[in-house]
Amino acid sequence: MKTLAKTNNFIEREEKYGAHNYHPLPVVLNRGKGVFVWDVEGKKYYDFLSAYSAVNQGHCHPKIIEAMIEQAQTLTLTSRAFHNDKLGEFEQYASETFNFDKLLPMNTGAEAVETAIKICRKWGYEKKGIPENEAQIVVCKNNFHGRTSTIISFSNDPVARKNFGPYAQGFLKIEYNNSEALREVLERNKNIAGFLVEPIQGEAGVYVPNDGYLKECKDLCEKHNVLFIADEVQTGIARTGRMLAVDHENVKPDILILGKAISGGVYPVSAVLADNDIMEVIKPGSHGSTFGGNPIAAAVGMAALKVVQDEKLAENAMVMGGLFRAELNKFIPNCNLVGSVRGKGLLNAILINDTEESSTAWDICIRLMENGLLAKPTHGNIIRFAPPLTITKDQLLECVAIIRETIKSMAQ
Ligand SMILES: *Cc1c(COP(=O)(O)O)cnc(C)c1O
Repeated sequence: MKTLAKTNNFIEREEKYGAHNYHPLPVVLNRGKGVFVWDVEGKKYYDFLSAYSAVNQGHCHPKIIEAMIEQAQTLTLTSRAFHNDKLGEFEQYASETFNFDKLLPMNTGAEAVETAIKICRKWGYEKKGIPENEAQIVVCKNNFHGRTSTIISFSNDPVARKNFGPYAQGFLKIEYNNSEALREVLERNKNIAGFLVEPIQGEAGVYVPNDGYLKECKDLCEKHNVLFIADEVQTGIARTGRMLAVDHENVKPDILILGKAISGGVYPVSAVLADNDIMEVIKPGSHGSTFGGNPIAAAVGMAALKVVQDEKLAENAMVMGGLFRAELNKFIPNCNLVGSVRGKGLLNAILINDTEESSTAWDICIRLMENGLLAKPTHGNIIRFAPPLTITKDQLLECVAIIRETIKSMAQ
């Protein structure tokens, strides 16, 4: 690769002064608009990560930025010690959009997952009658729900867990995409308060469960009086071709967790939604966040959700996603390097025919970057493709050509 003086300066500074908790591609970005980002050398790229699906509405969407600037010049933070004139409007808008009675605002995805765990446990004790400190939450193998010490306690990724113990108790792990495993654990254990699940496992490599899995799990939860908790931080807000990934199976979760694209990637906003019989276990003092529900977050969140609806981004994700997989499937069968493409809507991934330890997927991403498309491997041998949902057909076909030519050039 060419030596890029500016790029290297930025990278070296981060290396020296920043903790090494990520391994980014060697590209330094300083501008974004719609589906594009630019690096400090002036090179333009298609963004096929969208900040892990936070930027579904496209970079710097003018309506979201406008809402943020206006609110930032008016009132930024009151804390929840006082009311502000934006929060209720956002809570009503989001609750009505997702068909829940109430919303609890937080800032990051992990905080929203933590909040859902707390609500679920409290509901378990106060409504279901589970004996104190006995509540269990069922989770799935290969889950990703964030980085707090409680959440990594029920991860099975050794890198995310190792030497961060002692681990939090109260989680039972079952196989993903196996409703029989859920049935069995629910029949065996009477102290289960909730089942926490990603409708598609994003970080695990865009692992899409069988049709019917979510509905079967929801029915089992209902039968056993257990809360079905959907972590839609990555799959939600139109990414998979519906407003929520659970909508594909007409499942209404008891607790819904949102983050990432609820702000269009403009500001840290997350939310937990539930109906009154569940949310009412939360009382003043039992949970909170200094920044959660601040006026900027509320204004940005509302603008970001409106953009998704006004621009019919779920519909576009559905059509473009179908086209993307169809176009990739035209050349994948003749290609030794790629095993398959999978996904739903515009949350897709290709599986590289090599081991998790190999550098093949990384090398492909470097070559894609050189060819003007940014994507990142997950789990060593899987590459996720998740562009902003505003992508047009012409742009998508251009990206398919970049991916096809890059892979062809590497297969030789
Ligand atoms: C990204 C993600 C989280 C964590 O969100 P943060 O904002 O990084 O804390 C939780 N759950 C899922 C499914 C995610 O993809």
